[in-house]
Amino acid sequence: DFSRAPVVIIGTGLAGYHLAKELRKLDQTTPLIMISADDGAHYSKPQLSTAFHKQRSPLQLVSNTAREMAETLNAQILTFTRVTAMDTASRVLTMRAGAHDQQLHYGKLVLAMGSDPVEIPMAGSAAGCAYSINDLQDFQRFYTGIAGARSVLVIGGGLIGCEYANDLIQAGFDVHVVEPQTQLLGSLIPPAAGDLVQNALTRAGVHFHLGTTVKNLDHAAGSVRVELADGSQLQVDRVISAIGVRPRVDLAQHAGVRTTRGIVTDRYLATSAEQVFALGDCADVDGHNLCYIAPLLAGARALAQTLAGSPTPVHYGNMPVSIKTTLCPVTVSPPPCNADGQWQYERSDSQGVIARFIASDGQLQGFALAGDACKQAPAFSEQTAPIMQ
Ligand code: FAD
Repeated sequence: DFSRAPVVIIGTGLAGYHLAKELRKLDQTTPLIMISADDGAHYSKPQLSTAFHKQRSPLQLVSNTAREMAETLNAQILTFTRVTAMDTASRVLTMRAGAHDQQLHYGKLVLAMGSDPVEIPMAGSAAGCAYSINDLQDFQRFYTGIAGARSVLVIGGGLIGCEYANDLIQAGFDVHVVEPQTQLLGSLIPPAAGDLVQNALTRAGVHFHLGTTVKNLDHAAGSVRVELADGSQLQVDRVISAIGVRPRVDLAQHAGVRTTRGIVTDRYLATSAEQVFALGDCADVDGHNLCYIAPLLAGARALAQTLAGSPTPVHYGNMPVSIKTTLCPVTVSPPPCNADGQWQYERSDSQGVIARFIASDGQLQGFALAGDACKQAPAFSEQTAPIMQ
């Protein structure tokens, strides 16, 4: 009898927990089970890349433990439990906790499994020693690992790499950034805005190595010797790899659920399998895989309605992203990928940049604001096309 079977959410990140909170506003009684490969602590992931400067320890970033969340949500939360297989015909999950396999029946299933850091192959004896910081446990490892260190190499000058460079330089570390493109944040903002961020971080002491890649990482007397593709060499104590994330799709894929970059859903967050939904970083919602908070909040609100019995499509309005490079903040509404159009500067000086992404039909499809121009974000957001028409 599927009608009495629980709603099961795989994942206790912001997607899983926001959905559970929204669902409990509408339905206090349906059995709710949440499963997490980690300790299930409730924390705000964006705070990971501002924690050093704010002197916040991993423990201080936890807002609630899994036990507290279970009580508030009237849910059962299975921690350190990894779902290893799902059978969408019989609606059964197989999961592993320690050395034990268990099975669990679901009535409705939500995949809120997040994304994995992208790893690039590197050569050298220290190649496996780069830290990727994509969740609280990664942050805990880095936090412990950086004790006593003075210098850090950040591989990747995208959103997360720039935020860590901004944070670590203000926390007193010597910071190097290597980025293959010739500008920072190149997939999000036009060159003048990237330059403004680079200048601010350079003034604060960050060393940039743009237009090149890391070739070798080798252990050298307690630190790491870095060889770049352009022939230059550096010596650093620790290395962070921040070259992007990739939705976790393996479980869905093995179960025959449709995936592209992420787990494919319609606007009801429904996947190709009956009563299986996807939300957050792992989901490709009607063609949009957006690994940010605002889309998962919109999705959680709509999906809670659907799970509670009122099918509700999600609508993505214009959702600008604030990049927390506090030395030179950026607010960007990136144009849709493959958008036909170009960036046009309205202002570009030493204090700020304003750029609009104008489509070939004249529509404003995105904008980038850097420095003191960020405060104009609300006005720009109002004029910009919604992500879902
Ligand atoms: P996650 O938080 O990754 O949660 C995934 C959950 O799934 C975890 O509980 C995991 O244990 C569980 N899981 C996965 N596989 C399994 C399995 N097989 N079995 C059981 N459990 C499993 N976005 C913004 O909008 N603004 C920002 O300022 C911002 N800053 C960021 C800074 C950093 C450093 C990072 C890394 C990201 C930032 N983001 C920001 C992105 C944003 O944090 C993410 O989009 C969001 O937190 C993703 O939430 P999620 O719940 O989808 O995934």
